[in-house]
Amino acid sequence: MQFENTKEFAQKLDKQDPLRSYRDQFLFPKINNEEVIYFTGNSLGLQPKTSKQYVDEIMQDWANLAVEGHFYAEKPWWDYHERLAGPLSKIVGAKPSEITVMNSLTVNLHLLMVSFYKPEGKRYKIICEEKAFPSDQYMIQSQVRFHGYEQEDAIVEIKKRKGEHNFRTEDILATIKEVGEECALILIGGVNYYTGQVFDMKKITQAGHDIGALVGWDLAHAAGNIALQLHDWDVDFAAWCSYKYMNSGPGNASGCFVHERFHNLKNITRFEGWWGTEKKSRFLMKPDFVPMPNADAWQLSNASVLSLAPYLASLLLFDEVGMESLLKKRNLIVSYLEYILLEIAKEVHGDFEIITPSNPEERGTQLSVFLHGEGRKLFDYLMKNGVVTDWREPNVIRLAPAPFYCSYEDMYNFGQLLKQGINAKK
Ligand SMILES: *Cc1c(COP(=O)(O)O)cnc(C)c1O
Repeated sequence: MQFENTKEFAQKLDKQDPLRSYRDQFLFPKINNEEVIYFTGNSLGLQPKTSKQYVDEIMQDWANLAVEGHFYAEKPWWDYHERLAGPLSKIVGAKPSEITVMNSLTVNLHLLMVSFYKPEGKRYKIICEEKAFPSDQYMIQSQVRFHGYEQEDAIVEIKKRKGEHNFRTEDILATIKEVGEECALILIGGVNYYTGQVFDMKKITQAGHDIGALVGWDLAHAAGNIALQLHDWDVDFAAWCSYKYMNSGPGNASGCFVHERFHNLKNITRFEGWWGTEKKSRFLMKPDFVPMPNADAWQLSNASVLSLAPYLASLLLFDEVGMESLLKKRNLIVSYLEYILLEIAKEVHGDFEIITPSNPEERGTQLSVFLHGEGRKLFDYLMKNGVVTDWREPNVIRLAPAPFYCSYEDMYNFGQLLKQGINAKK
């Protein structure tokens, strides 16, 4: 498509957008009495208008039914979490039985490590990417120390080449081969939070299995953002938070994927709790743990339904729209944003360096851009004028035009504000 940097063109794209009505299903903060241009759906997604109603329903059931709500609420609480598995399985490419929702992301990664990081003999190393999201680094470091290893020895980081912004799949595969039978686990973020690079999860998972390692993925920046086929890619386990692209609310519950080949294993190590026991016998308060025959065996506590409610509301929107339409719009709006950035760079004689891969297969919703020569002042200008972005010192801006609620006109307007902001200080 031949793009144009005009309001008319952007509005034309909006008119043709099959998802345009969904913008109205979300609540936008206002600055100067106008809805903001929201680029931080990769950090905290906007609130769907339906979420409050789902939370209110639980508050009402609690008021009217109290403890009886566990069984007699409109959506009974005791198996409320099961409602999320169906819609989530379509988003991440899994069977519903392979999905469970509980706790938060870092907690779940730790819990999954109990089952999937089993260092033994000379096979004890974990391969991850360099400069992984800090929480993932802390989690992996503390895990290897917990098992009695030195983190400098037990953690192998995949490196980028000097002067390059992204990882090369060939280098990742080479590292995996090199570590070989010393590798117990590969655990990488499926989409890099800083650059937006999408990893070749299928190939990397296969390479990990070829050397006899298990392979897990942190999908915090991937779930609801890119096409995933966890089951078919033969991924062992994965976890994600739901408050980024999945719009479930701040700090909200995490989803987990456990491949079905690990269900119903007698001797699997796992930290267990009563919500992981067979439904039929859960309230018989028996001393023996009889696991659910699916990923719910990893559940521990009775579900915190107040946090699952807005997650469910959001997932139903995903279900209605379908990932395919979201990804279609995502590709177009991200390409349009990329075009706008390059046009504005020309107009202001600026040096913008997009560090996210330009190949649409290797990126999702996010573009990370070095605005060379610019600084904090520009960020403040944008913020004051209603552009909510993520700015990292010294001059990296991360822009994620979430296809659910961002418009093409937002992209055009952003370009104009960016130009004004840069010119204002000249
Ligand atoms: C956002 C994010 C987290 C956050 O973890 P919480 O436990 O939800 O605070 C962890 N890892 C990655 C890769 C993330 O992007």
